[in-house]
Amino acid sequence: MFFEILTLFPGMFESVFAESIVRRAIDKGVVSVGIDNIRDYTGDRHRTVDDYPYGGGPGMLMKPEPVVKALDAARKRHAGLSPKIIFLSPRGELFNHGIARELSAEQGLVLLCGRYKGLDQRVVEKHVDREISIGDYVLSGGELAAMVVVEAVTRLLPGVLGNEDSAAVDSFFDGLLSPPEYTRPEIFDGVSVPEVLLSGNHARIREWQERQARDITMARRPELWRRYGGEKDI
Ligand code: SAH
Repeated sequence: MFFEILTLFPGMFESVFAESIVRRAIDKGVVSVGIDNIRDYTGDRHRTVDDYPYGGGPGMLMKPEPVVKALDAARKRHAGLSPKIIFLSPRGELFNHGIARELSAEQGLVLLCGRYKGLDQRVVEKHVDREISIGDYVLSGGELAAMVVVEAVTRLLPGVLGNEDSAAVDSFFDGLLSPPEYTRPEIFDGVSVPEVLLSGNHARIREWQERQARDITMARRPELWRRYGGEKDI
């Protein structure tokens, strides 16, 4: 799978993608990540990427021409593969595990990072397939949101995670939050690991973990619990 990131701040991605899971996925050839600077698609001497919004008000908007040229160049680099064009935006659908799974089935994603007040609406309507928000708060740019999407999608691709940190035991995979976990020492700060985990009885351990996952999901995320179909269980 490939990711093409279009941004005004390409340097923000270097260290994040040079470490850990995404780095491993790149090294294994499971994903490729291209990062392109929208400013390289400007035509004027000052390399202008922003302009005043019609209707006035504070702040600037991204100029449409460089964005569309950068998009066309990304499409051309992957001719014949028709990647999904994603615009990171606080107005988008809220990102979650289900969307990450859907996106992980694509051949490629172009992730368009907004800056200033965002994009000219005509660019969104003509070129963007999906607008995604990573939460109900406003960031200064789409870069951190794009990193979140790349990492969440990459973790789900076959061959990226080893057995030892399989996504199948993570929160959301089966519709529930994951149960609490403990490691050595057995007593830490005067608090002991729950006795059942020391019992060696795998059936009892599974049962305890499932109960915990249900209780935590019910208490903390009632909407997840309803979607899981949990009411009929209690
Ligand atoms: N004026 C806009 C916010 C612009 S913030 C509004 O109120 O809707 C500048 C850019 O940051 C956006 O274009 C978007 O690309 C990114 N951004 C900000 N918050 C985000 C969020 N919660 N999720 C995804 N992208 C976000």
